[in-house]
Amino acid sequence: GLKINIGKCEIFPVEVLTKENIVEPMRDIRRALLEADVSLPVVRRFVQSVSDEAVGTGLIRGVRPDQQLVKIVRDELVKLMGGEVSELVFAKSGPTIILLAGLQGVGKTTVSAKLALYLKKQGKSCMLIAGDVYRPAAIDQLVILGEQVDVPVYAAGTDVKPAEIARQGLEEAKRKNVDVVIMDTAGRLQIDKAMMDELKEVKRVLNPTEVLLVVDAMTGQEAAALVTTFNLEIGITGAIMTKLDGDSRGGAALSVKEVSGKPIKLVGRGERMEDLEPFYPDRMAGRILGMGDVLSFVEKAQEVMKQEDAEDLQKKIMSAKFDFNDFLKQTRAVAQMGTMSRVLGMIPGMGKVTPAQIREAEKSLIIMESMIEVMTPEEKEKPELLAESPSRRKRIAQESGKTEQQVSQLVAQLFQMRVRMKNLMGVMQGGSIPALSN
Ligand code: GDP
Repeated sequence: GLKINIGKCEIFPVEVLTKENIVEPMRDIRRALLEADVSLPVVRRFVQSVSDEAVGTGLIRGVRPDQQLVKIVRDELVKLMGGEVSELVFAKSGPTIILLAGLQGVGKTTVSAKLALYLKKQGKSCMLIAGDVYRPAAIDQLVILGEQVDVPVYAAGTDVKPAEIARQGLEEAKRKNVDVVIMDTAGRLQIDKAMMDELKEVKRVLNPTEVLLVVDAMTGQEAAALVTTFNLEIGITGAIMTKLDGDSRGGAALSVKEVSGKPIKLVGRGERMEDLEPFYPDRMAGRILGMGDVLSFVEKAQEVMKQEDAEDLQKKIMSAKFDFNDFLKQTRAVAQMGTMSRVLGMIPGMGKVTPAQIREAEKSLIIMESMIEVMTPEEKEKPELLAESPSRRKRIAQESGKTEQQVSQLVAQLFQMRVRMKNLMGVMQGGSIPALSN
């Protein structure tokens, strides 16, 4: 790889991701995904496609291959989960109808009331329909929760068929002119034909705007399989993942979209009525990877890059105008990243830069700065002047209190950097290193 030399130690690589340097970090990422409960086939496909894409990517200055890879992986995870928040869809005319389905115990009844509160806060009037006729307690539970969030509940007992309850409830909702109707349905311990048939019937009666499958994050792989099955059987518009406040790192969320093609729209993260939020793919990606520190580190590095006007820098490099002013800017940015990585404490198993190395680099930067400081503006802009003139180098050595050898080394470094950066961009236009004349 190509390195920027700061003094004697080469600690901040300027290079690209290669097949070789991603092998080990990819192994860590693979492990992280599996630990987060992403299914093995999804992990395999994912690692393969990210590896293919990552190879050849130029590294952000001051960021190591493993760190940058985490960022690339995160971005890909976000894309896989749909990129943006998948908003709920509302009906253009008449009430918006939301049908909730799911296995028993996943949190369907709780979600019904949570969702009503969530939409109420957005200024929509809501009504709940109690359709879980096989669990009498479920109807009572919904009535109580409805009172708690101050939303009317339509209940017709347990002797009426769910499809009929749906029809009556919908009529009532239209009479009341509510904006959103949410229907809770019966869940079973596992998928069976009777449940699916009943759901199909209810769906036909309601003609819902949204059919959302409620899944429990703690079930891991199971969640993705369920979403797929329900989607094939009854056709759903999305999922709600509950119990994300638990131990699960939520890898199931990734599998859901990958396997079923349906987005997660909302997540439940607690038992309180307020604990329902939109599903943010970026936050979830961070959680799945469990490498938040690395991510914020790389993002900061990108910011430093931006501030520096990377485009301008590139132009200079391509036209071989990269001078001591740029050199200083660049090495400072790199040093800043070094300091930052130390502040962040580096991540166990990921840190190869020791505090001693960083101190050394900082010392070198101070030495370089003192030499650049005493250059004339012309010398800073035309490093060739220094390459050609031993007397200029001697003067700089004297004024900065450094040795002539140190000055020569600095000049050589600048030209090395020019060539290396040109190489990096694939534009070799005769960027040879001028020999220092004696
Ligand atoms: P249903 O059978 O699908 O209707 O499930 P319930 O709504 O009755 O919920 C089952 C249990 O899960 C209840 O004890 C809820 O309080 C709990 N629950 C639901 N959602 C969440 C959540 O997001 N986090 C936690 N910790 N518990 C939840």
